[in-house]
Amino acid sequence: MAVNREAYLEIKEQLQAKKVTLVAVSKTKPVADIQELYDQGHRDFGENYVQELAEKQLVLPNDIRWHFIGHLQSNKVKYIAPFVHMVHGVDSYKLLLEIDKQARKSDRVINCLLQVHVAQEETKFGFNEIELVQVIDAVHKYKHVGELRHVQVRGLMGMASLTDDMEQVRREFTYLKMLFDHFATLPGNAAFDTLSMGMSSDYQLAIEEGSNMVRIGSLLFGARQK
Ligand SMILES: *Cc1c(COP(=O)(O)O)cnc(C)c1O
Repeated sequence: MAVNREAYLEIKEQLQAKKVTLVAVSKTKPVADIQELYDQGHRDFGENYVQELAEKQLVLPNDIRWHFIGHLQSNKVKYIAPFVHMVHGVDSYKLLLEIDKQARKSDRVINCLLQVHVAQEETKFGFNEIELVQVIDAVHKYKHVGELRHVQVRGLMGMASLTDDMEQVRREFTYLKMLFDHFATLPGNAAFDTLSMGMSSDYQLAIEEGSNMVRIGSLLFGARQK
């Protein structure tokens, strides 16, 4: 088995003390690995690919909270809307509307995190600060007239730059936390309570900077094959 139980128990203990949620990122890993952590009591799992997630969900227990952490295309929302617990990478207004539409069909409310572009790489997705303000404002207005009832914007998600410069990574996390605090304290934003930042290589730093949800894959399941 490829699951590193010792690492899991250690990380779990560390995070519990700080009230940080651990999303175990199981992309590319077999269902047996997920089942093994499930049997240890773990329930939050993260996946990046729609088809892979849909296939795993079919054969794994129903009380798993599935987090979709990849880049989600609007035309694929329908495959995960009936069961997904949280979508971390909402990076366009159009996508948020589509999630609402598909969640309505299943009579569900889907938790969403708005992805913020903080990294230096152009390839990463996400809103900038000005776009964030616009989207959050628009969501408020829609909610006010009784629309968008099937999505709940719960907070922000971000990925730091791929770099060994940990001070750069720290600055990006500090910035994300500052944005998060700004929106979380706006009137009527009580549900805005989740800041998803930190992965295997930088989760300690992310927690120091105020993350309350980390997405950890390789430390738990071993390195992924390319
Ligand atoms: C793969 C992935 C992770 C986990 O990465 P590790 O380095 O294996 O911990 C976290 N977040 C996102 C968005 C990912 O795609």
